[in-house]
Parts: sequence; structure tokens; C-alpha cells
Amino acid sequence: MPGHRSVNVFYDDVMLGHNPEVDLPFIQSRVAKRVKHILQGLDFTWSYPEHPGRLTAVMEYLEDHPIAGVRFKAGKSATYEQLARVHTTSYLDHIFSLDGTSAWLDSDTTAVSPQSIKAATAAAGNAIAAVESVVNGECESAFALVRPPGHHAEPVRARGFCLLNNVAVAAAHAQVKLGCERVLIVDWDAHHGNGTQDIFWADPDVLFFDTHCAAPFYPGSGDMEEIGAGFGEGYTINVPLPEGAGDIAFEKVYRELLIPAAEYFKPDLVLVSAGFDPHRNDMALNLTYDGFKVITRIVQDIADQHCDGRLALVLEGGYNLTSLARGVHAVLEVLAGGEIPELLETGVNEANEATEFHLSAFSDDD
Ligand SMILES: [Zn+2]
Repeated sequence: MPGHRSVNVFYDDVMLGHNPEVDLPFIQSRVAKRVKHILQGLDFTWSYPEHPGRLTAVMEYLEDHPIAGVRFKAGKSATYEQLARVHTTSYLDHIFSLDGTSAWLDSDTTAVSPQSIKAATAAAGNAIAAVESVVNGECESAFALVRPPGHHAEPVRARGFCLLNNVAVAAAHAQVKLGCERVLIVDWDAHHGNGTQDIFWADPDVLFFDTHCAAPFYPGSGDMEEIGAGFGEGYTINVPLPEGAGDIAFEKVYRELLIPAAEYFKPDLVLVSAGFDPHRNDMALNLTYDGFKVITRIVQDIADQHCDGRLALVLEGGYNLTSLARGVHAVLEVLAGGEIPELLETGVNEANEATEFHLSAFSDDD
């Protein structure tokens, strides 16, 4: 039953201030000009999918469907020093120089509005606060409900709606300030976490495990052979999956690969880049809410077994507002101690329900 485990959810309205204007001119690249020309021909207005309504949809759903054991908190903004553990100072100086302005940062997906830098530093700071709360024993697990997301942000550049790499900033903080020596980062967003992979590519103290929709799906990286380099060789695990992969495939790889990898690595902190775009109603892949529940229980069990349950999740993508809000709720229920269902192939539950509904019409029994 939910409620027997405590969960801190970190959230701050400041993160709603990141709202890039859709009519801001693109960087004038040849591709952008061509894309714009095509869109004009189709009479279609491009809108920024990573918008403030994502967080408000989740917060409203959680208010309407409260979960016992879940408490809401707000963390402080990340400092320049905290961010500089994973980003270069030249990149940070550029980002901070944009405070109060509107601009495109990367030609296809990432832009800022006047309040974006405050939102981005709050997102990274709330990820840090989530980690601090589990390491300090204030709660059994934590969820940083943040935006802009972070896992595409590289040491030197913004990409794919991401400005600052929130989960990487949180992991580095745990290592430098909280005495954590081995951090496991699980990234279950539908897109490959190229930025997080880059940051810890040669670091044997961070095990990065990423399930994602295979290239050429954005960002195009995350091939199985990308395994890290130098001392970090073998500490990057990429699992590219076909677009139709769903609950059964996810459960299989989390049980048969992640559990033994964690057993070998013995993390003292588990972080999750929790995107909700692998839901069947979102961008790619075919997870259901039940699938999210099962993979949540698997990472929770890993944290219980190796590090006194120290588990913090950080929101990444998720663009269908219904599956985003309900997905976060499903994950929080499990974190709070809720039951997990048995997973069946997609559609079997619906087939069983329909059979039960109709079958009595063909039976002589009352
Ligand atoms: Zn994503």
C-alpha cells in the first residue's frame, strides 16, 4: 500500500518561467530556412513542446489524486560552482549572459526566454536538493519535478530542450559534497541521454545505464558499442530498442542486465533520468503505466539492496500531458510503497477485459 515509504517531491514555480517564444526567428541555417519554408507551405505553426504546462499538468493531477507518504518541497537554485562540475566555465558564462533575453541556442530545439536561466538553475538546484534529502535520510526516495530537462545538455552546449544537465549536476554534487563514491544513473527517457554519457564517459565511478529508442531517433547516439573509454570503459551501458518495444522488453532488460550490472558495481546512490516519453501515447516506445511501475520497483530494489534505498529521480521528457501526469503518479505510488502488477504483452489486459464482458452472453450459467 502507498504510504509506508516516504517520498519527497521537489518543485518550484520558478521553473514555469522558462517559456521560449514560438515566433522567435530561428538561427538562419540552411536547414532551418528550408524547414521554415516547408512549415509555411503547410500552414502549420511550430510550438515549443517543452512548455510550462507540462509541470502544471503533473502538479494538478497530483493534487487531485494525492498519494499517502508524498510530501512537497522546494530546493535552492544551483550555484555557478555546482554547475561548473559538469559544464565548462565558457559555456556557463555564455548561458548566464543570456539571462533576461530571448534567443535560440541550438538550431532545432533549444531556446531561452527572459526567465529561462532562473528556471534552469532552479531545475539543477532541485535535483541537488532531491539527492541531499535521500543521502541525509530525510526521506526514502525523492523525485525532482523539474524543467527544462537536462540529459541532452553536454559540457559545452545546450541541446534538445536541455540547458543544464540536472542529473549530472546532482551526481557530481553527491560525489564531491555528500561522500558518495559510486553513483548509478539509470536513464529510461525515450531519447538517449547523450549529455550525461559525455560527462561521465571516462569516469569509472558513475555507471550510466540507458534504455532508449534506437538511432536514427533523436539524438542519434546510444549505440550498443558506446561503452565508455579509458578508466570509464565498460561503465556506459546502452540498450537501443526498436520503436515498438514495450513493458515485457523493458522488464527483461532491467531484470536480466541492470540488476547484475548493479550487483557488480555496488552503487551507494541510485539516480534516474525519468522521462515519460517512452509511454505508448507519447513519442516512441510502448510502455504502459504498469511498465513504469515495474521498472520503478526494480531500481527501488537495487537501491534497497546496495545503498539503504537511496534513490532520487529527476524528470526529463514527456510531452503528452495525460501520460506524463499519470506516469509520474504511477511511479510515485510505487516509490511510496504501492504494489506492482504482473506485466503482460500489450493488449492482453484489454483482451481479458473484453472476454469477461462478453463471454457470459454465450454461457448457460447465470
Ligand atoms: Zn525524451
